[in-house]
Amino acid sequence: MMEKILIANRGEIALRILRACREMDIKTVAVHSEADRDLKHVRLADEAVCIGPAPSVDSYLNIPAIISAAEVTDAVGIHPGYGFLSENADFAERVEKSGFVFIGPRPETIRLMGDKVSAIEAMKAAGVPTVPGSDGPLGDDPGENLRIAREIGYPVIIKAAGGGGGRGMRVVHSEAALLNAISLTKSEAQAAFGNDTVYMEKFLENPRHIEFQVLADEHGNAVHLGERDCSMQRRHQKVIEEAPAPGITPAMRAEMGERCAEACRRIGYRGAGTFEFLYQDGEFYFIEMNTRLQVEHPVTEQVTGIDLVRAQILVAAGEPLPFTQGDIQIRGHAVECRINAEDPETFMPFPGTISQYHVPGGPGVRVDSHIYNGYTVPPYYDSMIGKLITYSDTRASALARMRIALSEMVIDGIKTNIPLQETILRDAGFQEGGTNIHYLEKKILGG
Ligand code: ADP
Repeated sequence: MMEKILIANRGEIALRILRACREMDIKTVAVHSEADRDLKHVRLADEAVCIGPAPSVDSYLNIPAIISAAEVTDAVGIHPGYGFLSENADFAERVEKSGFVFIGPRPETIRLMGDKVSAIEAMKAAGVPTVPGSDGPLGDDPGENLRIAREIGYPVIIKAAGGGGGRGMRVVHSEAALLNAISLTKSEAQAAFGNDTVYMEKFLENPRHIEFQVLADEHGNAVHLGERDCSMQRRHQKVIEEAPAPGITPAMRAEMGERCAEACRRIGYRGAGTFEFLYQDGEFYFIEMNTRLQVEHPVTEQVTGIDLVRAQILVAAGEPLPFTQGDIQIRGHAVECRINAEDPETFMPFPGTISQYHVPGGPGVRVDSHIYNGYTVPPYYDSMIGKLITYSDTRASALARMRIALSEMVIDGIKTNIPLQETILRDAGFQEGGTNIHYLEKKILGG
């Protein structure tokens, strides 16, 4: 087993990885920016190395500084967490070329899936259903592009092959707007991602976001751990996630999950990964694969009893998966509310010092957070300061536990989105389950 792991991340996920390492008797190295000396996992790690000034480009995205930190501390593996360098194929390559173990997929796989056009091609070839679309990048022939859109049917969406984080997309409702939309998206994509390749898809009007968790090892084994529903979103950012997804039957889960696992075997996938789908009118449409651990992984852990970070470390060390598909059972229901340091009405980030913090508890309550009394949320990074997860035998009971947990949670000194989460939990449509990706903005926020 790996003796020492460097955690190339910050905040709650760095703490989550540290906890898995401690449980596995693996020594830990925390790397942090000058603004993050007081992070909880930095204090708990066996060793800590400052890798640069506060801005992410100078620290958490600073590849040479992270590699040097691994060298001076004799780390064996590097866990990238999510965000930052987690889906950067060049980083994964540098890690491996420098003689460390990258806790994630092979660099080639990250590159293949990081380009949405090649990802969709690979998934189609593997039998995963995709959104009707241009079957590859759009060329420069206006007549041909108009023909493709007519064949797909309006509305269509123009998407950048290199896009991410909800950027580099444009919906087109009529033929008159198409050509202009393509050239605008192309130039934006060039500026934002250094790649002006764009493609076209049918724009689905009322989909849900349902994603499948997979785990694969280097020995050709791949399993799925069921799905999560992440339809409660604002500006393409997930706000609440749950597992299993309301209305998805065991037969649908088994079929789609197996297709995802089979796709992993075909592309030689290694590690944890997520297949994201839009789900509408009983059909799944693949949109992208995330080649890393997700923020919302705890809901899957709660309903399967599998520690995903531990599994990532095991397979990165070359071990076979310690379970087969038949061993995996979905039991009960789990919900996760993301807790953000932000104004619940304007959604503006609200960094500052936490003057008082009370953690909820009781049966089926899990809190993944690095904050503590007196901790100062810095202004430089993502506003998410933790995740509140509840679990029970039924969805209704998991939601009841969440309502109670939210009411017990006190974070004073800064503003948080807890009031927004309470509003969503009180909403009748959400309680019923199965709402689509526009529900929060259109029905709850009324925008
Ligand atoms: P990103 O990598 O930027 O997150 P995705 O391809 O995952 O991009 O899409 C992000 C979001 O954009 C989806 O969750 C969905 O809300 C919307 N979206 C993307 N493609 C479509 C589509 N074909 N029809 C409708 N909505 C879409």
